[in-house]
Amino acid sequence: MISLTNLTRAAEIGANSYLLRSGSTSVLLDAGMHPRREGWSATPMLDALPKDLEAVILSHAHHDHVGALPLVTRQCPGAKVWMTSATAALAEPLLHNSVNVMTRQRKETLQQEYPLYTHRGVDDCAVTWEAVPLQRPFHVDGSEFKFVFHDAGHVLGSALTEVRCGARRALYTGDLNLGRQTLMIPCQPPKGPWDTIIMETTRGAQPTPSGQTRDSLENDLLEAIRQTFARGGAVLMPVFALGKTQEMLTLLHHARGDGRLPPTTIYIGGLGRVLTEVYDRQRSLAPRQHAGLKIIPEVRPETFDPRRLATLRPRSGQIYLVSSGMMTPHTTSHTLARLFFPRENDAIFFVGFTEPSSPAGLLRTAGQGGSVDWADPHGPLPIRCEVRHFDLSAHANREDLVEWICEEARPKKLFLVHGDPEAQDWFRQTLSLRRPEIMIQQPPPGKPVPLFD
Ligand SMILES: [Zn+2]
Ligand SMILES: [Zn+2]
Repeated sequence: MISLTNLTRAAEIGANSYLLRSGSTSVLLDAGMHPRREGWSATPMLDALPKDLEAVILSHAHHDHVGALPLVTRQCPGAKVWMTSATAALAEPLLHNSVNVMTRQRKETLQQEYPLYTHRGVDDCAVTWEAVPLQRPFHVDGSEFKFVFHDAGHVLGSALTEVRCGARRALYTGDLNLGRQTLMIPCQPPKGPWDTIIMETTRGAQPTPSGQTRDSLENDLLEAIRQTFARGGAVLMPVFALGKTQEMLTLLHHARGDGRLPPTTIYIGGLGRVLTEVYDRQRSLAPRQHAGLKIIPEVRPETFDPRRLATLRPRSGQIYLVSSGMMTPHTTSHTLARLFFPRENDAIFFVGFTEPSSPAGLLRTAGQGGSVDWADPHGPLPIRCEVRHFDLSAHANREDLVEWICEEARPKKLFLVHGDPEAQDWFRQTLSLRRPEIMIQQPPPGKPVPLFD
């Protein structure tokens, strides 16, 4: 039997990690770190990893898929690590940044276990990486496992992982997008029917309003920015350094070029700049739109220096495109937001998924005129600036995923992962009504279940 063990500790977008086992061969899909937990509780269930783990396959370089990789390769030194070359180029600076963040947290929160790994640990880990092109099969020696990467349309380097075992085929989606973004092109999953699909469910709890398209969202965002500038305000957009930063830089650049935005100064963070340089170097190697655009030299964003925070006075015509997207404490967007809260001409615009219990989620819920409880010593913070959300997500919307599963993928078995319980429940209910023949499971943490029916 080939088994799948979910090593994520709960049904949530956490430390994504899934163990495949066939006979004596074990392969790990992703090695993520939980974005909101701290210390060892943020890691996947590493105790369940066999010592003789043969391989780790990474879907993309986001922290919730790659953040625990140095821990896995330290514990299982014989494991090979496979990913696309763009993911490898992005993952290295991201993991080094994680060491810096953990080292800072050790000082600020007295979290004695931090950092969970060191810069040296990241370097040791990176020597085990092998870059695999899209569409080229690769396999684990002496086992029945074969794998193929397909473009996932989520961020640079992101891949769907096809798992072939003899005549049977499974597909692990990682994070995917079936619609277009500004840079990424829509994912075109390989043809079904599939025996098994392991599918992300990020947006299962959010219906897409009728008539809402990528074009209408982009226009709404640009109109809101114009209005903010016109009343003398500045804009803060909390974003992930990987993906959303480059998507927004490109959108704002085009809007500046064709007059939809007035002259605008865009600030990005230091990590955002490093990762944008990777986008530039890989621009013709990985699938994307505007392959001719070199973002850094053509868009010319300024790098925001956090040391300026004490004296900073945001002005009209300025956009602060800084991380983190969830406004995690001690990040630039979290700190900068406090400057924006009391200024009614300013605006904070969210442009992607915000987990409801994160500081970004709490701020969205509170909104303009409300107050947000960020555990500040002075109590809840009143919000006078504008707060809006534009659903320019890098994840497939739930309607597209249902169509794909029902009409094209048509799996015998479907595992729901990478989503909150409500999101997974919506998919389970909707799909079991439309396709009762599909066996739908939410793989329980730590318990092996058969990969195929
Ligand atoms: Zn992702
Ligand atoms: Zn993810």
